[in-house]
Amino acid sequence: MEQNKGNSLDRFRLIAAGLVIANHTSLLALISPTADFILTRILARLAVPFFFLLTGYFVLSRRKESALDRRRRIYRWCRHILMLYGIAIVLYFPINLYAKQLSGNFLDWIRILWIDGTFYHLWYFPAVLIGVVLVNELDRFLSPKGLWLIGLVLYCLALGADSYYGLVSQISFLDQAYDQLFLLMESGRNGFLFAPLFLIMGKQIKEKRSQLSLVQAKAGLTVCLLLLIAEGLILHWLGWQRFDVMYGMLIPTSYFLFQLGLVLPGTVCPSWRRVSMLVYLLHPMMILVVRLVGKIPALHSILVENNLILFLLTAMLSYGTSFFLVWAWKQTRPLSPSQKGRSWIEINAQALRHNIETMQQLLPSGCKIMGVVKAQAYGHGGEMIAKLMEQNGIDFFAVATVAEAVELREQGIIGEILILGYTAPEDFPCLIQDNLIQTVLDLDYARLLNRFSKKIRVHVAIDTGMHRLGEDWHDFSSIAEIWAMKSLKIEGIFTHLCVADSLAKEDQEFTRLQIQRFDQVCAQLKKNKMNPGIRHVQSSYGVLNYPDLHYDYVRLGIALLGTHSQNDLQTRCRISLEPVLTLKTRIAAIKTIPEGDTVGYGRTFQATKKTRIAVLPIGYADGLDRRLSGLSVQLHQQQAKIIGRICMDQCMIDVTGIQAACGEEVILIGPDLPAAQWAEDNQTITNEVLSRLSARLPRILLPSNENKS
Ligand SMILES: *Cc1c(COP(=O)(O)O)cnc(C)c1O
Repeated sequence: MEQNKGNSLDRFRLIAAGLVIANHTSLLALISPTADFILTRILARLAVPFFFLLTGYFVLSRRKESALDRRRRIYRWCRHILMLYGIAIVLYFPINLYAKQLSGNFLDWIRILWIDGTFYHLWYFPAVLIGVVLVNELDRFLSPKGLWLIGLVLYCLALGADSYYGLVSQISFLDQAYDQLFLLMESGRNGFLFAPLFLIMGKQIKEKRSQLSLVQAKAGLTVCLLLLIAEGLILHWLGWQRFDVMYGMLIPTSYFLFQLGLVLPGTVCPSWRRVSMLVYLLHPMMILVVRLVGKIPALHSILVENNLILFLLTAMLSYGTSFFLVWAWKQTRPLSPSQKGRSWIEINAQALRHNIETMQQLLPSGCKIMGVVKAQAYGHGGEMIAKLMEQNGIDFFAVATVAEAVELREQGIIGEILILGYTAPEDFPCLIQDNLIQTVLDLDYARLLNRFSKKIRVHVAIDTGMHRLGEDWHDFSSIAEIWAMKSLKIEGIFTHLCVADSLAKEDQEFTRLQIQRFDQVCAQLKKNKMNPGIRHVQSSYGVLNYPDLHYDYVRLGIALLGTHSQNDLQTRCRISLEPVLTLKTRIAAIKTIPEGDTVGYGRTFQATKKTRIAVLPIGYADGLDRRLSGLSVQLHQQQAKIIGRICMDQCMIDVTGIQAACGEEVILIGPDLPAAQWAEDNQTITNEVLSRLSARLPRILLPSNENKS
């Protein structure tokens, strides 16, 4: 199981498979026919559209890949489904034989194989296959809107053959048309009519990255569920239903259900995908098993006549067998290295939450936090940190590059994203595609943005004295020119302070001057009836030293990660932050060397006595800077020093007199070993040290109960 906090789609899959069992066992039939109808003939009908949506989302959506790779990928997927279908046909063949279901001519057989399925639930496999191939072909020459329209028309046709047949049969020409259709297919439940719409919907949710908020998804789902039930009951009472598989309200309801699955935090777990597929495949077999045992007269009334028990036993058998099969299959797979095998980073979600709350308390009311997650959230892992921030209510992010922003969108971040740095004109389409906000670097850059064919959302940077990015604060005519540009959607304005971390008198004066200049620009804009939009000035030290300022947002990076930029840096606000990151490695080897021997490249360390050394599998390629020789590390609450030169992949520590054994964990950065010490030893700031921790180190999110260890 993956540790990363992800969405709930996989969990929903497991539940959806259970709904199918409920449908096939008429779970509530004994308790109340109406309740049973609502649960198993209306609500359980969400399961299959949900599966189609998942397929559209994961299989059909366009990715960054060549046309050839895409074809290969979809071909592989089709082969996989065909194989499953083949296995299923063989599996259920004895039952077909027993039930004498094998009559029919050649054409009947084609229809059974490709439309109806050889057993009552197996229609799903040809349906999803045909649906995928159909939508993929249509996608070549249709626009997204055209595709959606076709899907809708096909689904309406399917509805006519299903829940709305009573309506159709009252209109004579439609009735005749459907009679023709029924010669081809028994119902609308197939890959031509039923599947495409939901496949297209899933595909477009992924491609447009149109995610709802948790509240929207929940509200939408609740309303739609009620309407779905109403629709189902009305059609039932009207007696219109030829089958009860499809409803009009399934379209919005499955959409909101899927969106809820996307935004509700959960565990991403590939095994659950396989389990839910197997449950779907196997459960009719399990129903038969239970019924077979129920042939024993004494058990008959308990097992077969009681739907609740039939359901429970079937579910237990289906899930049990499926979990076992997936587990057994996993044992035959090639192994992948464990994450804590060598050197790794642990991320403490509770510390992050604590820091967010602590910083929030410093801010005036109405001022919000923009989470700065550039450079992989300073080496912590950008996606993981952004997701955790989002779970803690942060709805605005800042990154340095457009690639970082696109990556966050791909990982499902839905908050606003501001790009603080330069984006090349050829990447402007990405800004539109992913609804990003670009910084206007200066007047020249504004002209570039303004030349683009679509309106780009921007925040304008003002240079108030740092002389990095931003239009010059006292050149108001240039600033006004930016505001007059037609193709810019200006939503905010900001500046960056360059000595906010220092409490030296002249630095404080300069900071006040920067603030004053910024305020002056804002005031001038207002005077000229130009809307400055959202204003933000402070980063972490701007808040810690100037908490009295009141803008709309503050841009916080290092403080949320719970470390100080430098050791012993005085700030006006004294608050306690908790480091989010722990860097660990484990002892690879231990040896004892005699007095006079040297250690490592260049023989820079010479033992002055008999010395016990341990080799750690972490080096400068992991981000342990070569200049950090002499640094203290921690094992068993004791400290040891790095000796000799740090190598690319390894380093050595002196463990003379310290209890140490091969394989034991060693901490390099942690609550007792602040990253700021690394920074000091390296004559730099924590930000640099952390952001250089390399991609070779796995980032592991600690389960909440382990966080304090
Ligand atoms: C990196 C950055 C920040 C965040 O700074 P911290 O000191 O880490 O809070 C804020 N604003 C801009 C423009 C930045 O580049």
